[in-house]
Amino acid sequence: MDSVFEYRDCPCCGGGDFEVLFQSSMKADDFDVLLDYSMEEYDSQEWGRYVRCRNCHLIYMNPLENVSKTNQYYREAKNTHASTVRDSYLRTAQSQLRLIQRLAGGTNLLDIGCAQGFFLFNASKAGYTAEGVEVSQDAAAYARREFGLNVEVKPFEEVRFGEAYFDVVTLWQVLEHVPQPLMMLKEVRRILKPGGLVVASTPNIGGIPAKLLGKKWWDIKRLHINQFATGTLANLLRNAGFRNISSVSFRGFVSLSVLLAMTLRYLNAYEPVGFLLSPHSASGKMMNKIMLAYSSRLNFATVIGFK
Ligand SMILES: [Zn+2]
Repeated sequence: MDSVFEYRDCPCCGGGDFEVLFQSSMKADDFDVLLDYSMEEYDSQEWGRYVRCRNCHLIYMNPLENVSKTNQYYREAKNTHASTVRDSYLRTAQSQLRLIQRLAGGTNLLDIGCAQGFFLFNASKAGYTAEGVEVSQDAAAYARREFGLNVEVKPFEEVRFGEAYFDVVTLWQVLEHVPQPLMMLKEVRRILKPGGLVVASTPNIGGIPAKLLGKKWWDIKRLHINQFATGTLANLLRNAGFRNISSVSFRGFVSLSVLLAMTLRYLNAYEPVGFLLSPHSASGKMMNKIMLAYSSRLNFATVIGFK
């Protein structure tokens, strides 16, 4: 049997010296509204332990849950909520794309962890030759079926794209899931053209909600094994060899029904009234049409760099 935990050095600087920050109180990813969870839970002193690197200050989970098991989970993950979030994700993607168009030229774009392809679809409509990689078979199938997108269903590291091929590579909410984010970004740098742009966005543990809620912050969850803030995400890009690194933002959208569902689940109060928010109910349909805009800075760190 595989061991349950895997210990690791700092995934940003390789340092082995850390302080224990806190033990996550969430035993399961119970706030992840839209995912079905079937992985068994482990009862351990070290489960969900976040540490901070004494060298570069990155906060990361250590030890990790068995990585091959987690990878299997990602491959098999079903995305039952795609139709519910579709409109809001497509609108968010428009803002993300405008950001990129202001920063970089060229037309070859790769989106790593493209999920159902909402961002990629907008990129492709805007004239990019857009490719995606995605480990979830279900999400990739959606992207191909709904949008006719070119999506490779493999871990990014296994694809081996040609050197200096892409003008833009994006990683929206990816690096917080990856055991070796530095290695991933070095590979991104290899496949970018000289002067090419990388955009990386993750939940921001230095943001206001994280500061207010501490370990109850909604992005403290079992699959978020690296917790970046703007500074540590910028460090990671720098360590991977990128230059002209800076922090940027985009406009995010969330529908009223998704926002309410997330809030109620967070408060453990979903059950009695959740049916009102179901996408199949009249009230749910109505509330799914009401879009609220927010600045990505509220909850996300987004950092860009150039090769
Ligand atoms: Zn470190």
